[in-house]
Amino acid sequence: MTGQTPKYIWMNGEFIPWDEAKLHVTTAAVQTGSRVFEGLRGYWNDGEQQLYIFKIDEHLRRLAQSMKMMRMNLDFSLEEIRQALVDVLVKNDLREDVHLSPSVYFGVGQDFFSHKPGTTEVGVYVLARPRKSILGTDKALHVCVSSWTRISDRDMPPRIKASANYQNGRLAAVQAAEDGYDDAILLNELGKVAEGPGACVFLVRDGTALTPPVTGGILESITRTTLIQLLEEQMSVPVVQRQVDRTELYIADEFWMCGSALEVTPIISVDRFQVGDGQIGPITGQLQKEYEDVIRGKNPEYSDWVLPVYP
Ligand code: PMP
Repeated sequence: MTGQTPKYIWMNGEFIPWDEAKLHVTTAAVQTGSRVFEGLRGYWNDGEQQLYIFKIDEHLRRLAQSMKMMRMNLDFSLEEIRQALVDVLVKNDLREDVHLSPSVYFGVGQDFFSHKPGTTEVGVYVLARPRKSILGTDKALHVCVSSWTRISDRDMPPRIKASANYQNGRLAAVQAAEDGYDDAILLNELGKVAEGPGACVFLVRDGTALTPPVTGGILESITRTTLIQLLEEQMSVPVVQRQVDRTELYIADEFWMCGSALEVTPIISVDRFQVGDGQIGPITGQLQKEYEDVIRGKNPEYSDWVLPVYP
């Protein structure tokens, strides 16, 4: 299955062949980016021949919060979406590392901004695709601080995981690529470090891990919460959630991005300033190992963070 497109997408209660899962051009999701979604992972455990979904309920909770803030009323329950996430993996017989994404969208409506029940269709679909983990590779990034500002809670709240928000991250990511960097870090409206286009950030200074607060123009990242717990409980590394200055990135001992997609991805330069000694730092490396054990269901202390897919 690796590298191929899975056969089915779950859409509004049915399995649809991949090529037939379509939305009309007049849907609000297309016209105004009115869609909320989640991105989560399933990890294959070879020893157990089992696929584990990581923190499914935390992702569903955040999806519900995004829907609430967008005033989306969906006919399907969260329990049904949860079941669809499992079913789409089984139906496609996926037995490898995967990326899963449930989306809830405003469909065809009576006007551009209609949202009340009965005035606009609200739909849901769930995608699952093979996606290999970067953990265990030596992938590391050269990033820049973007000249684009992160959207804020007073205009396009980053707390809502909405498609339209990603235009902000896209401007930064594409500019960074044009300028020869792997990725970008955005500053918030106060000029403090916010996050990357699709990931939160941590840095290490003098043995303490620092990460911007949830009020700093970031998505409330589930990986960020996971890493705070692993750093403190498994590695005895203190974590402080506070505003971070741009220049702190330049003198950090270690720096990484985190997210369901990027997992724990080391950053080895910022604006061409080398981070630490330019190698993957010791805390970053250890954290990657701790994270990999947990997501593959290999650490019994956190077995309630993973859901086995196959009986
Ligand atoms: N920030 C943004 C903007 C993101 O898109 C993501 C990925 N969902 C994250 C942070 C990381 O969030 P999570 O750890 O929940 O995947």
